[in-house]
Amino acid sequence: MLTERTLTAAFRMAIVFTSTIATLPVWAQSRSPVAPREQQVKAAVHDAYEMYKHDMSGKNADYIPYLAHVDSKLFGIAVVTTDDRSYTLGDTDYSFSIQSISKVFTLALAMKEQGSEKVFEKIGNEPTGRAFNSVVAVVDMPTHTANALVNAGAIATTSLISASSADERWNKILAFYGAAAGEKLSLIDEVYKSEAATNQGNRALAALLLKYDRIYSDPLEAVDVYTRQCSVGVNVKQLARMGATLANNGVNPVTHEPVIQAGDVPEILSAMTMAGLYDGSGGWAWHVGLPAKSGVGGGILAIVPGKGAIAVFAPPLDEAGNSVKAQKVIAYVAGKLDYNLFSPRSVGLQR
Ligand code: GLN
Repeated sequence: MLTERTLTAAFRMAIVFTSTIATLPVWAQSRSPVAPREQQVKAAVHDAYEMYKHDMSGKNADYIPYLAHVDSKLFGIAVVTTDDRSYTLGDTDYSFSIQSISKVFTLALAMKEQGSEKVFEKIGNEPTGRAFNSVVAVVDMPTHTANALVNAGAIATTSLISASSADERWNKILAFYGAAAGEKLSLIDEVYKSEAATNQGNRALAALLLKYDRIYSDPLEAVDVYTRQCSVGVNVKQLARMGATLANNGVNPVTHEPVIQAGDVPEILSAMTMAGLYDGSGGWAWHVGLPAKSGVGGGILAIVPGKGAIAVFAPPLDEAGNSVKAQKVIAYVAGKLDYNLFSPRSVGLQR
């Protein structure tokens, strides 16, 4: 029963608690109260690594010649939590091209610069149900751009970044990715050259967007900057930190720098849920229930809001262009740790 005395005691405790919080540095105050337990995460990551390390199903992307030659056996996992702990296994220092996972962070930068409503109006957030580079989707979708995570919408999002030259736009994007990762990132020149020589399809998408008045800089220039952003090198640790920045309300948990606007995070995660694994996004939401983004380089980044992020790298892909091994690892770890956002168990409700 609540008596006046217990209420008073509770009130006093609240005051003590509040004043303790008030004396903490700003970054510590914003640390997540639901960051996961170390032992459980370690065990889940270790088991997933052992379980899938010999699984070689899928096939490297080959429409970008460089990617066809990446060692298919490479395999790395990194988890970074919102309270800055990390668990890594396998080829964690190998730098691979971020590819489409970059789209998430260019979207975040565009929202920071232009405001989320303007980005929503200029790009949209509807799934296409088609391949990531579909021309038909550009014709069919009412907005033409569809969403920021398919190629057409991503090229348009890149074109939205304010700059007076392509180089300025590229440098802003690269610096923003670096802030999210907590360290300087750089271009893998060979990937860029390989992709720039073979990206006629993306140039066609940009030209089509111009017809519909849905691209916001010179189309070929936008494709070039987009191709550079896809060629940024990351290892799984850097990628997981970029994800942990999203999970931590936009604040990098390592450097404590506010990189992404907190108010934009739910909208960015909604885009990842709608289209992060392209035409595999529905199956992913059904089975795993976490916002995620894949890249044809073999990386997948999944976000667990308030808790952390999981990045996995393994080059062989399925038909939709998503790393097979990365999907299996994330599904296993997320299942073990009750991370499915659609499940009441993810917030501790047991039955
Ligand atoms: N750079 C790649 C492309 O434009 C990115 C695609 C992807 O990772 N899904 O095709």
